[in-house]
Amino acid sequence: MSGAFIGMPGTPPGAGRLRGDEPFPVAARRALGDAQLRRNLGRATATIRARRARVVAELPDWEELREAGRAIKADVLANLDGYLERLEAEFTARGGAVHWARDAAQANEIVTGLVRATGATEVVKVKSMLTDEIGLNDALAAAGIEAVETDLAELIVQLGHDRPSHILVPAIHRNRAEIREIFLREMAGVDPALTDEPRALAEAARLHLRRKFLAARVGISGVNFAVAETGTLCVVESEGNGRMCLTLPQTLISVMGIEKVVPAFADLGVFLRLLPRSATGERMNPYTSMWTGVTPGDGPQDVHLVLVDNGRTAALADPAGRPALACIRCSACLNVCPVYERVGGHAYGSVYPGPIGAVLSPQLTGIEENATLPYASSLCGACYDVCPVKIDIPSILVHLRARHVEAARARSLVPGAEAVAMAAAGYVMASPGRFALAQRGGRLGRLIGRQGRIGRLPPPLAGWTSARDAPVPPAQTFRQWWRREHGDSQ
Ligand code: SF4
Repeated sequence: MSGAFIGMPGTPPGAGRLRGDEPFPVAARRALGDAQLRRNLGRATATIRARRARVVAELPDWEELREAGRAIKADVLANLDGYLERLEAEFTARGGAVHWARDAAQANEIVTGLVRATGATEVVKVKSMLTDEIGLNDALAAAGIEAVETDLAELIVQLGHDRPSHILVPAIHRNRAEIREIFLREMAGVDPALTDEPRALAEAARLHLRRKFLAARVGISGVNFAVAETGTLCVVESEGNGRMCLTLPQTLISVMGIEKVVPAFADLGVFLRLLPRSATGERMNPYTSMWTGVTPGDGPQDVHLVLVDNGRTAALADPAGRPALACIRCSACLNVCPVYERVGGHAYGSVYPGPIGAVLSPQLTGIEENATLPYASSLCGACYDVCPVKIDIPSILVHLRARHVEAARARSLVPGAEAVAMAAAGYVMASPGRFALAQRGGRLGRLIGRQGRIGRLPPPLAGWTSARDAPVPPAQTFRQWWRREHGDSQ
């Protein structure tokens, strides 16, 4: 097949597991009530944050590396069609087969068909966000094919009939005792005397997975990077399970978002330095696997690459939102986000949680399908500071909020309460006299405040204090202070 759909107007928005059953504020409120979840998240994110900061500080040229990563990705996104066609040509020339999928349903259909053709009823999988996004495991199960996750954290999620809550550490919301319980309940043949020591838990998973690896005839992987000039695919992982999936089965099917292509092999030098330091706080990634087509007599002999759009060309069409496609899924932005740290990944509803999820998911599904996510941020900017490819997430959040407001305005003839409130605020702020009058009125808030805080405002402002305190207005306004200090001079 050719890459003809790339950039075509009207490419449908993404589908799959990109939105939850309830809006973010509802899910976040419930998550905030889970003290155990907050403890698990707080401990884990603080550890990864500190480790990342330590190893990043070791590199004097970190900012230059970030800039190089940003520039490569910007070039890729500006010339995506050409790089993808080159990748297809090189991968095919080396014995692989390339398939193009417009959306989740088509991608699932292609992969299911490829597995069916082998006669296998079980596949081993390397951790892959994209296969989570398109709901591949469910599609395979519906076709009578069992997908076995082999990344330890993904295995915990799968056995716990759970959903991932972090890009890199999908079971970050689970502690050791919970993992032990899941293994005892779900893992066939596990030692009933299993303890919650990390070594014992890892050994139980290793024994379980070893049997699966040796029996597997089909492996399914994601792709971290695909090199257009050579047709090389690259997967980075920490446990070595990926390498087993990539080398033992006869058939290997790699599923990749179209934005993961990089122009040249040398570009990997930039990303393989940026990614581990940003992701796990390691200087080098433990297992980096690369393969280029088929090598006769060595590894899988039937090699496929499925290139998936699923809303990406729609995101590409918006120049202000497009940089979100540069993400290399390091998860550094999650670990520094004050919102993510308190509510965890499930509240976002999408397989992409945290700041990157808040800008990526609404673009992949269409903003109206995920309208609350761009508001799931305090706009503190910490995500932008740590992003290894310099994605300005706060600016994209503001842009998406504006798109959402515009879309709502275009749909409704009657202005909503927020639009009325903003128009009133605009009217007040347009005049110094009106603004001063409003400030004097606002100071009445001092009468209902306690210890510098107002716990509950009257309607129509009650929504603001339903989940937070409002500060008591200061005893004097800035203008009064200025007049006292400087007289009436401006
Ligand atoms: S947006 Fe940046 S920091 Fe966040 S996961 Fe992507 S690359 Fe990492």
